[in-house]
Amino acid sequence: MEDKNSLSDTITFLGTGGARFMIISQLLASGGLWLNLSGTEILVDPGPGCIVQSTKRKLKADKLSAIIISHRHLDHSADVNIMVEAMTQGGFKRHGWLFTPADALGSEPIIFSYLKNYLEGVEVLQEGKSYQVGNISFTTPVRHIHRVETYGMVFKTEKHTFSYITDTRYFDALCKHYGGELLILNVVFLNPRPPSDHPLTPTDHLSVPDAEHIIRQLKPKVAILTHFGMTIWRAKPWQIAQSLSQQTGVRVLAARDGMRFDLSQLDNS
Ligand SMILES: [Zn+2]
Repeated sequence: MEDKNSLSDTITFLGTGGARFMIISQLLASGGLWLNLSGTEILVDPGPGCIVQSTKRKLKADKLSAIIISHRHLDHSADVNIMVEAMTQGGFKRHGWLFTPADALGSEPIIFSYLKNYLEGVEVLQEGKSYQVGNISFTTPVRHIHRVETYGMVFKTEKHTFSYITDTRYFDALCKHYGGELLILNVVFLNPRPPSDHPLTPTDHLSVPDAEHIIRQLKPKVAILTHFGMTIWRAKPWQIAQSLSQQTGVRVLAARDGMRFDLSQLDNS
């Protein structure tokens, strides 16, 4: 059983909600992505409720090798402190790494300083760099257009390559950098919104037409939409995924809270 585990690559969607109103209502859960890649467990973007969603699903934080934060917004980082505490067994076992953009460690850091001491180390994410966690490597190819310093990731396991496009406004380089058999996309808006500088009018997110364009360009075997805001949720993400599949010829799925995607599905398609 141990053997079988170490061979498979799975992604568990702890939550699929994104942006303020979805998060404060918890209509959809939040909490990030739990990766189990050839036995190496990595938590990405532990938003609010991560500790609840992960323990409920019997995922063991002390098995994590790393926590990766794509950016400092609350819906991606709110539970980082408690998850570091859980990863290190309350600080009794110094263990694991935190990867985060520099601005999440600056004047208003996302992590308490006493918790930093529980970690093996903190690594700062930078554009175009590669990182290693156990037998897994990942890159942060390009800085996103978002209000704070933000990076998506391309993960390489022994068997698979997949990309995670976290929050960003659309820009053409997204279609160059995020290859692989699987593409996970944070799609907050149903329709594109015009740029705005008002702090309470966030516009730096992908919309459904942006997702369609990116999927057409990158042509992964499977694309999974997640991080839904209110407009896309009301329009039923699973129906949107179905029409995107028809339009692009790529199998597009809408993530569900708690969904576990096994990357072996990619092997014979
Ligand atoms: Zn954000």
